[in-house]
Amino acid sequence: MTVRVRFAPSPTGYLHIGSARTALYNFLYARSKGGKFLLRIEDTDQERSTEESVKSILEGLKWLGLEPDEPIVFQSKNKEKHLEAAFKLLEMGKAYRDFTPKEKTTENIKEVVAERAREQKDLRSNPYRDLSKEESDARAASGEPFAIRLKVPRTGKTSFEDAVYGLQEREFSEIEDLVLVRSDGHPLYNLAVVCDDIEMGITNVIRGQDHLTNTHKQILIYEALGIKPPRFAHLPLILAPGGKKLSKRHHGEIVSLTTYRDAGFLPEAFRNFLALLGWSPKGNKEILSMEELIESFSLEGIHRSNAIFNFDPNNPKRWTDDKAIWMNAEYLRKMPLEKLIPYVKEELRQAKLWREEYESEEKEWFEKTVNLIRERFFTLKDFSTQGRAYFSEDFDFDPKAVEKNLKKHPELETLLPELAERLEQLVDFSHQALEDEIKKFAQEKGVSFGVIMNGARTVLTGVQVGPSMLAVLETLGKKRVVARLKSRLAWQAIQQV
Ligand code: GLU
Repeated sequence: MTVRVRFAPSPTGYLHIGSARTALYNFLYARSKGGKFLLRIEDTDQERSTEESVKSILEGLKWLGLEPDEPIVFQSKNKEKHLEAAFKLLEMGKAYRDFTPKEKTTENIKEVVAERAREQKDLRSNPYRDLSKEESDARAASGEPFAIRLKVPRTGKTSFEDAVYGLQEREFSEIEDLVLVRSDGHPLYNLAVVCDDIEMGITNVIRGQDHLTNTHKQILIYEALGIKPPRFAHLPLILAPGGKKLSKRHHGEIVSLTTYRDAGFLPEAFRNFLALLGWSPKGNKEILSMEELIESFSLEGIHRSNAIFNFDPNNPKRWTDDKAIWMNAEYLRKMPLEKLIPYVKEELRQAKLWREEYESEEKEWFEKTVNLIRERFFTLKDFSTQGRAYFSEDFDFDPKAVEKNLKKHPELETLLPELAERLEQLVDFSHQALEDEIKKFAQEKGVSFGVIMNGARTVLTGVQVGPSMLAVLETLGKKRVVARLKSRLAWQAIQQV
């Protein structure tokens, strides 16, 4: 049987990284089995679902390269089918009409159930459960509003073998007669999910561990309908440092996938990072391409313990200790240049640093430069911030670099413009020629080569560290090197240090 899985987000906000990981695992599972990955938007909560959220989910999935194999299913469009199933269950005697007037809203249902549980310690003691068919039909025909509840058997238990957590069992007595359709005619979540999964031919349901309780209820619906349930795999949660739930409310933008896109993460890297947040491949390899992820993905490799998303909660913008940032840097350094260039182009375009020449007469220079500076970068943003001096004359001087490399060596204020004069005379502006000339100059002036190079780095690029200085000089080219070494801008920046 062809594997068919689905990602079923509720469109009530941006795409949470936990949901993105669920989507990824579904996708990897489908691909690893030669199956299909489907998308169902669970938009039955009219008040909370928004168009904007659907857009952000689709954008996020596209960014990660997880596009569905079939047209998107919108759950709200299947309402009639959900109702049909509920009435079928009613007809079969597997469900019953509940005429309790209070139970109009889900909140009320919860209250009523809780109250009953307190009073009678039996979650299924609904007075309408055993109403005769005739009476139930007559009351419905007279226009009395009713909810439809599943008649959970009195004794026994549900059980299923979860691909991650193993055997799961639940006594029927612990499950209330769940509402399938509210008295306002609105079919509820568990019924809708089961109907849609059946309709879509879903073979494996892979979703968050927070749905475990729902799964027991859904299995009861499958059984009542006489249909074999799909196989289930529940995923561990992703928690915040300290083990708290990673929630939209408390962690704001940190949980949104687009935050990482906008912060300059490469989708390839973030996908790789997400894949390892709760799953390990065999062997110790951590950098895995999409093909490798697909090849090594298995439900058995999913951890049972919850994963921690390691950011600094007091300083959410500081990602440098994070594995995600490490992985992004690895990808930036190692991905084929032709794959990286379009991302850099987009970053520079957004920062208004892009020039058409980078694709024509300056193409070679541009590619060489990107290749040089990517060595020490962590995100795509670094190309327009730390790397700004390569693409613009308007760049900032890092106060730390100015302090360390210029302020502490005031002699450089006259030496660097002098060096500029010398370099201006060079016909050959290559590595070797530059090295020889600068070494000679340093010796003559009795200053260390390192001091000159560090000072030059700050004056030329505004930063403290970067690629080999000889490569930097060569990349910037004679004209810019000479002009910047003569410029007073960096020295003026000393006043602000
Ligand atoms: N719509 C549910 C959610 O957003 C997922 C339902 C499911 O995967 O079965 O959590």
